[in-house]
Amino acid sequence: CGIVGYIGQKDTKEILLNGLEKLEYRGYDSAGIATLNNDGVNVSKVKGRIASLRKAVDENISSTQGIGHTRWATHGVPSELNAHPHQSESGRFTIVHNGVIENYLDVKNEYLANVELKSDTDTEIIVQLIEVLNNEMNDVAASFRKAVQLLTGSYAIALLDAENADTIYVAKNKSPLLVGLGDDFNMVASDSMAALHVTDQFLELMDKETVIVRRDGVEIQQQDGTVVTREPFTAEIDA
Ligand code: GLU
Repeated sequence: CGIVGYIGQKDTKEILLNGLEKLEYRGYDSAGIATLNNDGVNVSKVKGRIASLRKAVDENISSTQGIGHTRWATHGVPSELNAHPHQSESGRFTIVHNGVIENYLDVKNEYLANVELKSDTDTEIIVQLIEVLNNEMNDVAASFRKAVQLLTGSYAIALLDAENADTIYVAKNKSPLLVGLGDDFNMVASDSMAALHVTDQFLELMDKETVIVRRDGVEIQQQDGTVVTREPFTAEIDA
C-alpha cells in the first residue's frame, strides 16, 4: 500500500499514476486518485491494478493538484466502494489513508452519529470527522490538527479541500510519509521512490505533526499549531 500526492504546475494524472506504479512493490488490492481543479474534485478508483486505474482515469480532466493511493484492505473488503480516496458527506474533503485507525468506532459514535457512512472502511471516519470539526471551527488547518489528536492507531494521510486549490494537508503516525521538495511543486509519498524522478530533496515528518503543502512551500505544524522548521535531506538516487 502507498500514498502519493502532488501540487505544482504540471498535469497531475500522470505524476500520480507514475508514483503509484513506483509503490506497487508494497502490495495492494485497489487503487485510486483524486484531482482538484476549478471545477472541483474528480475521483477515480478501482479494485485491482494500476493498469485498470489508468483506464478509469478521465484523460480530459486536467489538474495541477492531486492525491493517489494503493490500498491493502484492513477494514472492509477490497472493492471499488471501499477503495480510496474517500470523501466527506458534502464532498468538500477528500482523503487517502494508509494504516489502521484503532479507535474508529469510538470516533464514529462520539462525532458521527448524524453522518451516513458510505463505505466499510476505518478511513472514511477520518474525512467525515474533519468535516464535522470544520463545521464547528471553520478553520481547516485547526480541524485537521484536532482530528489527528483524536485518532489512535497508524496512519499516513493526505487530504484535499475542494475550497482551497492551493493546499494538500498531510500527517503521519507510525506509518511512513515523506514530503518531496521541488522548485515550483511539492510532493508527498510513502517512499522516496515515488518522487525520486523529480526531486532528491525530502523532508522527514514526525508522528502527529501536520503539514500544509503548497506549490511554493511547506509548513510543518506541531499539535498546538506551532510552526517548526526542518532542513531537508538528500535522497540517494540509484535508479
Ligand atoms: N485501513 C484502511 C482500509 O482498510 C487503509 C488500508 C491501507 O493501508 O491501504 O481501507
